[in-house]
Amino acid sequence: MFLVSLVIVLVVGDFASTFFYHVPQHIWGKLHLRTHHDRSRSYWDHAVLSKDPEILLDGLLGALPYLLIAAALWPVSAWSAAGAVTGLLLGQGHVWWRHTVEIGWKSPAWLVRFARSTGLVLPEDHDGHHRNPDIEFGDIFRFYDVPARYALASVRSFQRRRRTALRRLERIRALRLMRYTQRA
Ligand SMILES: [Zn+2]
Ligand SMILES: [Zn+2]
Repeated sequence: MFLVSLVIVLVVGDFASTFFYHVPQHIWGKLHLRTHHDRSRSYWDHAVLSKDPEILLDGLLGALPYLLIAAALWPVSAWSAAGAVTGLLLGQGHVWWRHTVEIGWKSPAWLVRFARSTGLVLPEDHDGHHRNPDIEFGDIFRFYDVPARYALASVRSFQRRRRTALRRLERIRALRLMRYTQRA
């Protein structure tokens, strides 16, 4: 129960955080892009050290799905509560760790092999998300990257199609109005 609860917090928490916070922020939001993807300062600083309220808010909103899932597992049993808390601690540890490329982290070959077989996000992978915000989604697990990019691309193409359709509609309306006024 301990392990099941720990895995649920990390796997389901990452899913919820990626698809209900991270991806929507990249499409409609400003907060995450202004804080987490602020290129004017080091991401080690804004992901780990900073106490700026906007940065903390982005972190809290991203962590909220993990916290809610942990809260749901809490009353099940003492072991599930312990597993949920351990999951949250590991998740927080992973936040710090995945931002360490900037201060010189380099993953050893065995760890790269382990990460590739389990889907674990390495600091090098998350560094990719900071270099190019359109890639490397998933906080802890890389298997959320492909569906997240797919969701991002689908919404953007829908938005583009909608804009084109609206522009066309506007042109038709203007044309109709012109004909109407010419006739009158
Ligand atoms: Zn980051
Ligand atoms: Zn992001």
